[in-house]
Amino acid sequence: MPNNYSCPECKSKMNIGSSLVFSAKSPDNERGLIFLDTELGNYTKTTHPDFELQEGVEYKFYCPVCHFKLNKEENFNLVKVHMTDDNGKEVEINISNIIGEYCTYKIQEKKVESFGPDAKRYRNYLDVPDEYRKYL
Ligand SMILES: [Zn+2]
Repeated sequence: MPNNYSCPECKSKMNIGSSLVFSAKSPDNERGLIFLDTELGNYTKTTHPDFELQEGVEYKFYCPVCHFKLNKEENFNLVKVHMTDDNGKEVEINISNIIGEYCTYKIQEKKVESFGPDAKRYRNYLDVPDEYRKYL
């Protein structure tokens, strides 16, 4: 059974088939939809040919249903969604907002599990207790 993803704001389901659907915007205001594989650590992305993703560029990510901005207020580089796993547990998933940066974090209470070749990048940030994050 695939993982189910939902918007932290409107709770709408964001996965269709084996894709997690985001609405995204580049700094040059190019907008479009991104289909990302629902499997954690799989970075296969599909977009319409008219919406070409630029490597190394920071995108804004939005819920495709309510357009809530999913980049975290406290760290723009992390995009937050909720996921319900096979056991029905809801966890927080963070991915990078930079195209071509491959890291995923599964956050459950105080535990962080990371995936992807670039996983080290935000690991230190996420391992720090909340109250200290503002000093980073
Ligand atoms: Zn939403």
